[in-house]
Amino acid sequence: MPSFSRLIDSAKARYWTQRGTWVYDNALLLLLKCLWSNVVPECTMASSNTVLMRLVASAYSIAQKAGMIVRRVIAEGDLGIVEKTCATDLQTKADRLAQMSICSSLARKFPKLTIIGEELVVWVDPLDGTKEYTEGLLDNVTVLIGIAYEGKAIAGVINQPYYNYEAGPDAVLGRTIWGVLGLGAFGFQLKEVPAGKHIITTTRSHSNKLVTDCVAAMNPDAVLRVGGAGNKIIQLIEGKASAYVFASPGCKKWDTCAPEVILHAVGGKLTDIHGNVLQYHKDVKHMNSAGVLATLRNYDYYASRVPESIKNALVP
Ligand code: AMP
Ligand code: MG
Ligand code: MG
Repeated sequence: MPSFSRLIDSAKARYWTQRGTWVYDNALLLLLKCLWSNVVPECTMASSNTVLMRLVASAYSIAQKAGMIVRRVIAEGDLGIVEKTCATDLQTKADRLAQMSICSSLARKFPKLTIIGEELVVWVDPLDGTKEYTEGLLDNVTVLIGIAYEGKAIAGVINQPYYNYEAGPDAVLGRTIWGVLGLGAFGFQLKEVPAGKHIITTTRSHSNKLVTDCVAAMNPDAVLRVGGAGNKIIQLIEGKASAYVFASPGCKKWDTCAPEVILHAVGGKLTDIHGNVLQYHKDVKHMNSAGVLATLRNYDYYASRVPESIKNALVP
């Protein structure tokens, strides 16, 4: 059975080969399974929970460290921007360094974990909102670590490196929000948009006609165009937006896994634009081809307003 770190290396190499460049992606899918659960398949709920909580606690500090890297790269002034697929699909030195930090920390802290990829899957976006990061919209940026079990997103950590940046030069920057399904979500104050107000948050850098048509169909009182999937979910749980509407492919599983858990842990709902629950098992397609629809409350209202023509245009 190959070691966890060996498998990370081989995953990197695979991306290297596929893309012909050191852009194995802005998020590496880490597939983990406990060594002991392979030996003893009926591992107890108690031991599963212990591993999960250790993993969440580690993800918390690992995301914080990645957030510090995101701040350091800006402070040093050389973003090292490379285009991935096009001018709106970018990668920076911060994406690369945060990615390396997250992967090596997980490998170090969980040396007995083996990548087999059946039960426990960790979805990592070391820097969500890269386009906005390169344009100085730093509060849009998050580090996302999501944990899925048997295909279901169950735990998530969001670090927001520039939280509090408006408070002035002496402010302590950054915060970490975390959540576990059935336990709750922590590190923020839950707030709701006033009843009856439809404030839609959507993409700033990846818009198209389907996206704008779907937003318009929501009968919005206001539309916020901001970067990052993590950032938009934070807007939902902090009462700044009522629905995250993105009727387009583009967003990936590593963008939605951690944010989905935080939202679900406080009673919200995230699906594709058809209302399908997203799957996070190891073989799932990375792309959320049928977009994203997420709300803290009143999900049914927003789902009912998605036009059939838009649903027909977005195949899951
Ligand atoms: P946005 O709301 O535009 O910040 O997108 C949320 C996440 O999905 C970010 O990680 C984006 O990089 C990603 N994303 C959305 N649309 C696209 C696209 N057309 N191309 C590449 N990445 C995308
Ligand atoms: Mg992202
Ligand atoms: Mg990213």
